[in-house]
Amino acid sequence: MNLENLLRDNIKALKPYSSARDEFSGEAEVFLDANENPFNAPYNRYPDPLQRTLKTKISELKKVAPEKIFLGNGSDEPIDLIFRAFCEPGKDNVVTIDPTYGMYQVAAGINNVEVRQVKLDDNYRLAASELLRAADQYTKAVFVCSPNNPTGNLLEKSEILKLVTGFHGIVVVDEAYIDFSPESSLLPELDQYPNLVILQTFSKAWGMAGIRLGMAFAHPAIVAVFNKIKYPYNINILTQQTAMELLEKSPEKNGWVKLILEERAKLAEELAKLPFTQKVYPSDANFLLVKMHDARGIYTYLTEQKIIVRDRSKVTLCEDCLRITIGSPEENAQLLEALLNLV
Ligand SMILES: *Cc1c(COP(=O)(O)O)cnc(C)c1O
Repeated sequence: MNLENLLRDNIKALKPYSSARDEFSGEAEVFLDANENPFNAPYNRYPDPLQRTLKTKISELKKVAPEKIFLGNGSDEPIDLIFRAFCEPGKDNVVTIDPTYGMYQVAAGINNVEVRQVKLDDNYRLAASELLRAADQYTKAVFVCSPNNPTGNLLEKSEILKLVTGFHGIVVVDEAYIDFSPESSLLPELDQYPNLVILQTFSKAWGMAGIRLGMAFAHPAIVAVFNKIKYPYNINILTQQTAMELLEKSPEKNGWVKLILEERAKLAEELAKLPFTQKVYPSDANFLLVKMHDARGIYTYLTEQKIIVRDRSKVTLCEDCLRITIGSPEENAQLLEALLNLV
């Protein structure tokens, strides 16, 4: 991969905004450089544009060097940055799988970039060769998601690696649900693949969807591109501080994941017994994809019971499917009780 050839010309030529906190980041006592208010500490100060303290902590946790870490306002930010950095609107394209997470398509649409979707097979498996075949000289990135949303399954690692080695653009592997899966992350292999971007998030296993914090792990040259084009202060002080505190709760997070996995197994078993359930798909994530007779009707009934699941019945290969997030034991019991009342 040649990063210079992949980048849009305007991004290559761009002179990034240089903030006060970029130009001076050492020790000082009197800061009169950023037109901040001297009162109302600590919120009066702009946050660290590169989130150095937080990245040091994440670096220890993930065993990845800080210069290979980009932090975004959710994973959605690095997804958008990939389009803005690499894809010339109206000309370039990306390849992804179908079905998958909707944000790749939305970010592409906002950036006026074509998406070439390659259907998974009937068992939701990925065929790298088909994605490679869909790519052409204008394909700048390939997006895959493993475990995949909404299907819930891990994609085969060897197929993903075929993409990473066989495609000379950026390959994005979205691992938002990796903590719930039996397979380990591709992170330990990051150094071998200069075109690999791994996305993870604090929104799922870490229980921090509200603070908006996503991670992209990649070669430092790619991280440098993201840093060049992001909003200068993309991660606010409250998010950086709260993440620092919650990262101390790693054991608690592991406990949540364990409980969610136990609940997933129980819920899958109980859902499978319902007469209108056709199939509970195997899941490597914190949700179940369930095929049901009259999925739309069941969805509507559940909303009347004030229980909201996701109707995926119009999604490719997910006809008559609901996507059900694993809740607390009490919430899952409530769901089952409501469904049993239909029997
Ligand atoms: C939930 C989810 C995310 C998380 O997005 P954030 O912006 O980090 O909250 C990313 N990718 C997939 C596939 C998801 O389902």
